Amino acid sequence: MRTPLLVGNWKMNTLAAEGAVLAADLLQRLKGLQNIDLVVAPPFTSLDAVGRVLKGTTLRLAAQDLHWEDRGAYTGCISHSMLEHLGCTYVLVGHSERRKLCTETDHLVNRKIHAALRGGLRPILCVGEEQSERDSGRYREVLLRQLDRALEDIPAESAARIAVAYEPVWAIGTGRAARVEDAVEAHRVVRHQLELLFGTRAAQEMRILYGGSITAANVARYASDPQVDGVLVGGASLNAEEFAAIARSGW
Ligand code: PEP
Repeated sequence: MRTPLLVGNWKMNTLAAEGAVLAADLLQRLKGLQNIDLVVAPPFTSLDAVGRVLKGTTLRLAAQDLHWEDRGAYTGCISHSMLEHLGCTYVLVGHSERRKLCTETDHLVNRKIHAALRGGLRPILCVGEEQSERDSGRYREVLLRQLDRALEDIPAESAARIAVAYEPVWAIGTGRAARVEDAVEAHRVVRHQLELLFGTRAAQEMRILYGGSITAANVARYASDPQVDGVLVGGASLNAEEFAAIARSGW
C-alpha cells in the first residue's frame, strides 16, 4: 500500500514571517490527521522560518527547486545539502513553470534528480503536457519523453524515493482541472512507463500525484481512484483552511 502524499506548492508567495504563520495555522488544522504524508514547499527564503515551525511535527518541508551540482561557482543557486540543512525532506523538480519560465530542459531535470538522490532528498518529478500537445493527441508521447529523460540512469533501488506528479500545464492555475478519467488514464501511462524503467516491484512503490486546479471541492473525485496516490496543490495551498480541507476530504 502506498501512503497518500499531499504537497502544497506555495510558489513565489509568502515572506518568511508570513510563511511561519501559515505553517503554524496548518499545523493546528491538520492535528490528528494520520496515514497521509503532508508536505509544504515554501520559497527558499521562507524555508528556515517555516522549518523552525515544523520541527518535530509530521508536516514535512520541501523546496521548489535545487541545483544539479553539489557546490561551486553557481551564483544565486541552491544545492541539495543546503536544503537538507534547512530541514527539507522533499524537493520539486521540473515544475512546468520552471521548464517554461526558466528554460529548464529534461536533461537538467535529470541532473537535478540525481543531485537530490545523492543527498537525502526525495524528488517530486513534475511532468505534463501543454494544451496543444493534448489537442493534437501527443500527450502520451510527451509524458514518455519527459519520464525517460528525467529518470535516465536512476537505479531501481532509488525509485521508491521518487514521486511523479502528473500536472497537465493547461490545468495549472487555470481553474480547469483535468477530468478525473483523463487524469487516471495519464496516471496509467506514467505507471506503465515506470514499470518499464524500474521493474514492476519498484514502480509499484512509487507515488503518482495529480496536480492542476485542485480544491477542497474537487479533490475527493481524484482521491477515490486507486491510481491517484495524492495531489500537488498550488493556489489552494496558500489558504490553511482550504489546504486542511483538501487533506481531510481526500484520503
Ligand atoms: C502547481 O503549481 O503545481 C499547481 C498544481 O497549481 P494549481 O493548484 O494552482 O493549479
